[in-house]
Amino acid sequence: MNNSDRRDRMYRILLDAEALLHPTGEVHARPLDQRVDEVIARGWDETGGGDDRSVGTSDGSATARHNPASDQPASDRPAFSADTFGVGAGSGPSGDSAAGAPSSTPDLSGLSDEERRARLDALHERVRTCQACPLAMGRTNAVPGEGVLDPLVMIVGEGPGYHEDQQGQPFVGKAGQYLDKWLEAIGLTRNHNTFIANIVKCRPPNNRDPKPEESDACAPYLREQIALVRPRLILTVGRISARILTGSTQGITRIHGTFYRHEGIPLVPTFHPSGVLRNPSYRRPVWEDLKKVRNWLIDNAGHVPPEGGADGPGE
Ligand code: SF4
Repeated sequence: MNNSDRRDRMYRILLDAEALLHPTGEVHARPLDQRVDEVIARGWDETGGGDDRSVGTSDGSATARHNPASDQPASDRPAFSADTFGVGAGSGPSGDSAAGAPSSTPDLSGLSDEERRARLDALHERVRTCQACPLAMGRTNAVPGEGVLDPLVMIVGEGPGYHEDQQGQPFVGKAGQYLDKWLEAIGLTRNHNTFIANIVKCRPPNNRDPKPEESDACAPYLREQIALVRPRLILTVGRISARILTGSTQGITRIHGTFYRHEGIPLVPTFHPSGVLRNPSYRRPVWEDLKKVRNWLIDNAGHVPPEGGADGPGE
């Protein structure tokens, strides 16, 4: 195990321990990153192996089991009622931002492109057999997500619907086709410069909202995807992913089009394609949000949309 893996592993163990110690979401006085460094500096012995070893926290006061998104039965899993995505108090629209807030992203910065792709593929394999929350029981296929490394935009929805569950791919139904039009309107395509994922990888029954314990159980997967994929910008679609990744308690109609930061990555929330299909009055606001994204990509990521332009995502 190299230093990056070692740190990643310790990070996850402490994250689990935090949830056990502070089930009501208390925030520790020192950032989790700092405490991970302390534990590693104290010479954590990894030689024993195994996912269920108990370890002390940096406070020397608790033990926890590793592997939040493993095959560990849901009944054994700690509830991630603490700030699973490392957002909330320290996060907000650009300007008041996440500087100094605890980072919950494992340090995967040293990996080569090949290592990132291999690790992403392995993660997606784990998702396909995951039993970490009750959504596993109702799925036809898990939907890990798909797309390119280093995308201009990573789109994050809330969870698979019927068609996605049937095919094991994200955004393939009518809403997915509509999302493709949105991307096309700002010069993006899902196969060339985007990555698409969801908060939960398995379909909630009757397309209900994911429960907090389900999104918390699945959070490590998305967190690692973001760290491996390294998007220039994250576009959340719908209120669930906006709330979870921004930490904002305001509704999507208030915060759409606002620039936030998630783990240092610019993030813009907008409406969900299926919601816009149901309510065409959201089309104009979505187009305004997409233009902000396009302009940010032009100014900051060298994005060159095709000539001709579009005047909206259509229907
Ligand atoms: S939703 Fe996520 S945590 Fe739950 S079973 Fe599916 S992959 Fe595992």
